[in-house]
Amino acid sequence: MSKFSIPIARTNLTEAEITSVLEPLKSGWLVQGPKVKEFEEKWSNFTGSKNSIAVTSCTSGLHISLAALDFGPGDEAIVPAFTWISTANVVEHLGGKVVFCDISLDSFNIDVDQIESKISNKTKAILPVHLFGYPAEMKEIMDISKKYNISVIEDAACGFGSKIDGVHVGSMGNSGCFSFHPRKAITTGEGGMITTNDDSLAEKMRKLRDHGASISDLQRHKGPKPYLLADHPYAGFNQRMTDIQASLGSEQMNRAQEIVNTRKNIAKKYLNHLKSLDWLEIPVTEKNNSHGYQSFPALFKPEKINMQNILNINDSRNRLMTSLLERGISTRPATHAVHMLEYYKKKYSLKPEDFPNAFIADQCSISFPLFDGLKEEEQEYIIEEIKKSSI
Ligand SMILES: *Cc1c(COP(=O)(O)O)cnc(C)c1O
Repeated sequence: MSKFSIPIARTNLTEAEITSVLEPLKSGWLVQGPKVKEFEEKWSNFTGSKNSIAVTSCTSGLHISLAALDFGPGDEAIVPAFTWISTANVVEHLGGKVVFCDISLDSFNIDVDQIESKISNKTKAILPVHLFGYPAEMKEIMDISKKYNISVIEDAACGFGSKIDGVHVGSMGNSGCFSFHPRKAITTGEGGMITTNDDSLAEKMRKLRDHGASISDLQRHKGPKPYLLADHPYAGFNQRMTDIQASLGSEQMNRAQEIVNTRKNIAKKYLNHLKSLDWLEIPVTEKNNSHGYQSFPALFKPEKINMQNILNINDSRNRLMTSLLERGISTRPATHAVHMLEYYKKKYSLKPEDFPNAFIADQCSISFPLFDGLKEEEQEYIIEEIKKSSI
């Protein structure tokens, strides 16, 4: 038995956060009520976004964001090949075509130099991802979007606390979507938030999340004629957040900056201790960006990776992961290359080497435990064990 058993992530809620969920249960207003409104307001304040719209997940936020642009059959969206599968799935859900773009291994984010070559007269949206909390190159992406008149939806699932030149990610594009899954910095179990500076888009997305209703139940109940039902200008969806979830989220927002700082400090310690390892490449530095550190990914790279040796390197990475697990330390591949997953591979006849950097990241990346609540002695143990691993 090892000294510790350290998961890749662990939820760390205060007593106040845990008991906050009782408030809506006692008040009797359970869905998209006052607590949702409060959470949205705190989110707008923290991110500097004009509008925040709470939804059931980041995925449903991306779905609504695309639907609000009337994205549908015949339309194409550009999606990085290395991301969580749902960035691509929402395009499929609406009957559109996914056009993958390779990533840059320096950042794990979409390679902006390749975006223009993916644009056709059917391209309606680009979905850049701020993967693991490192901001995508939004200035370049927005320049391209303006040049070709294409919308931008930021997948900011991991982007809590991520900034470019002091501006929080999520409202540089038409809209941005955050996740409150337990792997992310703020959690509501399941949940998501859309941010946008575009008021009319916000109004449409608020309706779309609520069956397309022209006004919400809360507005109707507080209005002069609560007994009359709303009209429905859209065939919308049910993607409303509960007040139970919103209470949990809203309470965590009271220590939002502290949560970001804790994650940054853990990351800084990893950086300081691991940067000297010659078999590990840590891809990102801060520059003008603030990294939110949803996780701490690195590239397992004992030698230069090419299409000939990649499977051997993948084998040794997996041996390292097994060995660390035996020593009580959980690790994960950073995420997956979506073009290598069965659905996309078959539907679009894709080969791993079509997007070589995404393939490399899929096979050779490794993420180490990073979460609010990771104890100092736990992190010291992790660093020590990584350093003494024989590669
Ligand atoms: C977590 C994640 C999602 C999905 O978020 P959900 O809230 O679980 O829908 C989407 N994209 C990226 C990049 C993610 O990391």
